[in-house]
Amino acid sequence: MISFEEAGRRVLDGITPVSESAEVAVTEALGRVLAHSILAPFAVPNHDNSAMDGYGVRFQDLAHEEKTTLTVVADLPAGSRLSTPLGQGEAVRIMTGAPIPEGCDCVVMQEEVERQGNLVTIPPGQKSRAHIRPAGEDLAQGSVVLERGRRLGPADLGLLASLGLTTVPLFRRLRVALLSTGNEVIVPGDPLAPGQVYDSNRTALRGALTALGVEVIDLGLVGDDRRELAARLDEGSDADALITTGGVSVGDHDLVKEILAESGAIHFWKVAMKPGKPQAYGRLGRAHFFGLPGNPVSGLVVYLTLVKPALLKLMGAIVEPPRRCRLPFRGHLRKKHGRLDFTRGRVLFAGEEAWVESTGPQGSGILSSLSRANALIILPEGPVELNDGDTVTIQWIDYD
Ligand code: AMP
Ligand code: MG
Repeated sequence: MISFEEAGRRVLDGITPVSESAEVAVTEALGRVLAHSILAPFAVPNHDNSAMDGYGVRFQDLAHEEKTTLTVVADLPAGSRLSTPLGQGEAVRIMTGAPIPEGCDCVVMQEEVERQGNLVTIPPGQKSRAHIRPAGEDLAQGSVVLERGRRLGPADLGLLASLGLTTVPLFRRLRVALLSTGNEVIVPGDPLAPGQVYDSNRTALRGALTALGVEVIDLGLVGDDRRELAARLDEGSDADALITTGGVSVGDHDLVKEILAESGAIHFWKVAMKPGKPQAYGRLGRAHFFGLPGNPVSGLVVYLTLVKPALLKLMGAIVEPPRRCRLPFRGHLRKKHGRLDFTRGRVLFAGEEAWVESTGPQGSGILSSLSRANALIILPEGPVELNDGDTVTIQWIDYD
């Protein structure tokens, strides 16, 4: 049995990111990974512009101690510009976003001035460069806007559009094959006989993989039959990754591990974590193989903590540390076992306070405990007792 940290390291070390890339429409790029860094083709904003509705003036024309009256020579709504420089004693009416005319170096808010006909009177106390957004304040021309390996979010797509870009270079989408195993497992819709369970793993994992933005190859459900299992696994062996559930512990019918050992390679299969001790990590054909435990909670916890970071690396994404922080615990909790524990928890917020509670009974088949959870409470190896007000480490549950 290896430690959780060691398992995480080995999984990541064994992954070489995909390298194929293609230009994709920015509108199709949400959640995808940049294959090259994007540089600003021009400064953003590309000209000094007004941050306020008001009057553009020459600072040197303004008296320090008293009011100054200037002549309004032009009206500049956003989108229009003055091609001649501002002369001595002149002002322009200017709207937010309009380019600052040459010679203008101060914008006075319209609320501060008095306007009469084509004259505007400016109170003393103005500041040079006031209310002017300088060109390049957002991005300098040629600067790195988004780094290679960045997974694109909505603001990133907006940023790319603000640069006038319509396509971006992205790593290709991963193909991930998914297979459920077990004689007792049946598909939802069929009548349930005693001793049978519905296949929840494939639906849950399909959701997780969809949130990650990979292409899912659904290999369906197969019983604990060596020949059928081997054939189905073979179908998934040319995917980038192959995820199975069930058949990796030490029962008589746990064939997944055996077939992996014969036809591919097992790198490790026992991890000192709870839930999720039995797993099988290795290679089958060109696929990275993740044999998850059959228990629904175990499968998803292993997915979140070990498989998802691996898939992100495989996608070419910059691998970030897990989103963990320390929070006060409410309730009472005891564990005796020696493995690293991921208790399903719920972070609650009231006002500006946050704390975490357990979601209740933690059996690895109790899927409702994970459905209610938004975080995993990480309890160190060895016995732990938690009481109200103790501080714990949590990891936020996020599938995307
Ligand atoms: P196994 O890892 O094959 O020993 O399965 C462990 C437990 O998980 C058993 O109680 C199975 O019935 C259950 N299980 C296995 N596969 C699934 C599945 N696809 N959906 C829901 N439960 C499952
Ligand atoms: Mg089984």
